[in-house]
Amino acid sequence: MKLADRIGQVSASLTLAISAKAKAMRADGIDVLSFSAGEPDFDTPDHIKAAAKQALDQGKTKYGPAPGEPQLRAAIAHKLQQENRLNFQTENVLVTNGGKQSLYNLMQVLLNPGDEVLIPAPYWLSYPEMVKLAGGVPITLATDAQTGFKITPAQLQAAITPQTRLLILNSPSNPTGMVYTPAEIAALAEIIVAANIWVVSDEIYERILYDGAEQLSIGAVSEAAFQHTIISNGFAKAYSMTGWRIGYLAGPLELIRAVGRLQSHSTSNVCTFAQYGAIAALEGSQDCVETMRKAFDQRRQLMFQLLTAIPGVTCPQPQGAFYMFPDISFTGLGSIAFCEALLEQCHVAAVPGIAFGADQCIRLSYATDQTSIEQGIERLAQFITTVS
Ligand code: PLP
Repeated sequence: MKLADRIGQVSASLTLAISAKAKAMRADGIDVLSFSAGEPDFDTPDHIKAAAKQALDQGKTKYGPAPGEPQLRAAIAHKLQQENRLNFQTENVLVTNGGKQSLYNLMQVLLNPGDEVLIPAPYWLSYPEMVKLAGGVPITLATDAQTGFKITPAQLQAAITPQTRLLILNSPSNPTGMVYTPAEIAALAEIIVAANIWVVSDEIYERILYDGAEQLSIGAVSEAAFQHTIISNGFAKAYSMTGWRIGYLAGPLELIRAVGRLQSHSTSNVCTFAQYGAIAALEGSQDCVETMRKAFDQRRQLMFQLLTAIPGVTCPQPQGAFYMFPDISFTGLGSIAFCEALLEQCHVAAVPGIAFGADQCIRLSYATDQTSIEQGIERLAQFITTVS
């Protein structure tokens, strides 16, 4: 069958492939321990669920405005002003089906064929595919554990060409868990302003920080930086609302209006009653966010201690999100072969680093219970002894 050229260059998600294999093994009665999930293992907090149930009972079950419920857009604008020091108004905010759709829509609206988008690697695996689907050219900026998986201002400067349109910044990062310091963010902002390019800051893990790490939104560095900043965020990770599919994009009016037009012909509005859950998430107590963050922190410390005790394994200690990204290259295996053998022989699911642009690493999510971490890392240690 002849399909459109644009889909030919898009790879299937390796994360989903590993999860599907792990699920099939579980269905066969095999005790698989999984570190592959990109989602909190907690239930959505009760007050958020209650608000959505109430909205259902009140008949909030009809089509709504394509850019989102006005009350939610206003609550997001308020949050961006108060928490992130970003001066966005209600009309600068648009509600999307998750942070994924907000980034997808942004690429569709911002990029022309041949426009270059700078993506620091390791990266969240959907970024390059979204850029390609919009006709753009993904340009990866390599980083490694030695540089804390961070790009330097000089590296950014050297990558900018007349075709550069956008930098994608993701701090805290999936898959490495690294967090740029405010000073590092300010140095990157200076280059973005001077080069007159856009930056989209994917802040979906902003609330999941450890060891006193501080998350500074690049748009808060200066008025000039704000004029070059677009924000993508969502409710999935901070409030354990992955299945609700609510995210948002904030940026200049012209851009947000254009995304609204695109959305009005593609997905229309995000599920109306779900948006009322999101309003409760923003306006209600934030204790639930802190409770989950603390639990992740304990698991992070446990996993880090067990993981780095395995001879040969190296891994920078993450300061945000809920992932670890250890280097397994000393085993001589590529990340796909490593993860396939780990799953088949030891029944542990991890995601190959090649999916994130780093074949020397694997991604382990610690958004899982303590016992699974203890047993899973023990199995990983045994596996490594047999292969190295
Ligand atoms: N950005 C990053 C870095 C992510 O890891 C994810 C989800 O895994 C998303 C965006 C999108 O999240 P969602 O579409 O569930 O809001």
